[in-house]
Amino acid sequence: MRNVTIPDHPLLRHKLTLLRDRHTPTSMFRQVAREISLLMAYEVTRDLPLSPIDIETPLEPMRAEHLAGKKLCIVSILRAGNGILDGMLDLVPSARVGHIGLYRDPETLRPVEYYLKLPSDIADRLVILVDPMLATGNSAVAAAARLKQAGVTAMKFVCLIAAPEGIETFTAAHPDVAVFAGAIDRELDDHGYIRPGLGDAGDRFYGTR
Ligand code: URA
Repeated sequence: MRNVTIPDHPLLRHKLTLLRDRHTPTSMFRQVAREISLLMAYEVTRDLPLSPIDIETPLEPMRAEHLAGKKLCIVSILRAGNGILDGMLDLVPSARVGHIGLYRDPETLRPVEYYLKLPSDIADRLVILVDPMLATGNSAVAAAARLKQAGVTAMKFVCLIAAPEGIETFTAAHPDVAVFAGAIDRELDDHGYIRPGLGDAGDRFYGTR
């Protein structure tokens, strides 16, 4: 699939199973989601550019490597996106963080922005947009468009589970944004849930059901 990466790491596959299991309690759900998010952060940063740097080890000078290029900003789509932030920040602790809140207008069914807080220099950063579930794709499409409007030119999207419909919608709207998904499931049901999925990610993160 064009511009879509599904990492095949066995730890990721195993942890996703724990996340899906309805018997996994809230505390464990959060912990496992954090671990999966770290693994996803590892994959999504795989192609970050490096440049040489001269340092001295305790024994001798050496030419080593360090990260070059754009600094990172992780943008969470509220509220479930926040469940992914901590795991990502474990791996890239100096990344800046932005938040975008969208709700679905009951009449038009289109996403409406109710909250936006972004770092002032976001246009100069590589943005990793995160939402655990890519269902219809409408929120992610709107969030990515809003970030482009804010000047972002380099962006990747990370989710834990995607529906084929969401992948189709998102990649059609934003072919320039690489998608990293933990898994692509069978389908979206009539209520907008991904099947087999993991249920409502926000409810499972926050125990609100
Ligand atoms: N959002 C969720 O939390 N779960 C789904 O299955 C679809 C959208």
